[in-house]
Amino acid sequence: MLAKQAWKLVQEPRSLCARVLKAKYYPLSDFYHSTRRRGSSYLWQSIMSGKRVLDSGTAWRVGNGETIDAIKDKWITSASFMKPVGYSNIPTDCRVCYFLNDGGGWDERKLAACFSPEDVVNVLKLPISRNLPPDKLFWTPEKRGLYTVKSGYYQACKLLNMGSASSSSGTVSNGLWPKIWRRSFQPKHRHFLWRILHEALPCNVKLSIRVPEVSKTCPRCGVEDETQLHALKECEAVRGLWLLSPLSLRGDLIMCRNMEEWLVQSFNLFKEDKLQLFVLSLWTIWCDRNNLVFGNRRQPPDEMFRYVIPSNCDSSASDRVSKALTPAANHQWIPPDARSVKLNSDAAISLAKNCSVISAVCRNSHGTVLRWGVKFLHGITDAESAESQAVLFGLHIASDIYGERLICESDAANVINRLLHPSHAIDPIQLVIDDCISLAAARNVSFIHVRRQCNQFAHALAKWGIFSEKIVSLTVKFLFRSMNLLIVLFD
Ligand SMILES: [Zn+2]
Repeated sequence: MLAKQAWKLVQEPRSLCARVLKAKYYPLSDFYHSTRRRGSSYLWQSIMSGKRVLDSGTAWRVGNGETIDAIKDKWITSASFMKPVGYSNIPTDCRVCYFLNDGGGWDERKLAACFSPEDVVNVLKLPISRNLPPDKLFWTPEKRGLYTVKSGYYQACKLLNMGSASSSSGTVSNGLWPKIWRRSFQPKHRHFLWRILHEALPCNVKLSIRVPEVSKTCPRCGVEDETQLHALKECEAVRGLWLLSPLSLRGDLIMCRNMEEWLVQSFNLFKEDKLQLFVLSLWTIWCDRNNLVFGNRRQPPDEMFRYVIPSNCDSSASDRVSKALTPAANHQWIPPDARSVKLNSDAAISLAKNCSVISAVCRNSHGTVLRWGVKFLHGITDAESAESQAVLFGLHIASDIYGERLICESDAANVINRLLHPSHAIDPIQLVIDDCISLAAARNVSFIHVRRQCNQFAHALAKWGIFSEKIVSLTVKFLFRSMNLLIVLFD
């Protein structure tokens, strides 16, 4: 909560509260650069302890680069400390704008002259908007860059674990970890077990050591201290939940001194399907505890385990979004009407080559290719980032093709979602989304999410780029009239 107050001061520097605090505590700088002062008020001390959490998770999103110190500030988000590791020949007090060229991109020559090759690769991953908006601080643990109490809490826990990290690895006895690793648990469940074994769940006893304002008491019963074992097994309320769980366990009959012992016993006792039920129930009980702590909606106890079925076949969130967004009928590319142009874009990612290839193709009502293009993005292996840049690339190559309406199709549901429902997101990808929206504002453009089958041409082009490793510049009037030819070649 304290970090949330600090976040407000960062995002709303003109609010009354921020102006009063600024006048008193950081008249010559901004909140980001403000520091703790001896003898200051309790309020300011508290905000400063929230700021420590905030500092660990915020970074600059490069807009025009004028406010960001190239050496001291955190802005290279994929570097280990979000700052350059190696540098030389940098002018004093150098701002990031020094490395931008007039065309709204990175000046690779200047970057190479001042930074280590590793830093250059990481800097080139950062998208730059040609509109050069002001620089902005964003919250890196959240996808959209906005601070939430929940992710702030986890960030605080991470800081806490860092402090006690020396006790990790090696202490986990009984060879349990390899057993966990071999089973087909979902990654989040595996991670959850890992945290239990490393005593790293953010229970109140643990948290109160670092953050004195947090009470040690169990949020469920309000009587005993909340250790891992109490939160997941010993608490009166939790025992009731275990009885209702699919395994109907009687916690009072199970003897163990800590969670590690209980996990070892259970892994020896249960066969595959029961073990899955056990881990899922454990997870459900922990989630319910968090829902209570964060004031989220909770399931009534008798419904809580409805979703606990031992299978790993549930579809991912993005699949569900994509199903919801797509009408069931259209399974192939459909030409636009005579007055429109259709733009399809896609991205292919190669982790091995540490790059992605984006592609775009414009076709008319006869299916004739009017223009196409393929572009390499070195160092970018994040799907959402690559797909959004593919849409932007497509809008660029389509910018001077005449058509009353431009229909812009992509199979990336999350990107189309962001284009259709602009939010207040402030993460770096939003720069690309904003550029797409501003380019689209100049003409009649509609963004549509389609299935992969309807996007075959763009898909094949991007794949081809990955294989051929050649940069292909734009060519007017592409030779292939039918999209089938490329599909035969590459799928
Ligand atoms: Zn309790």
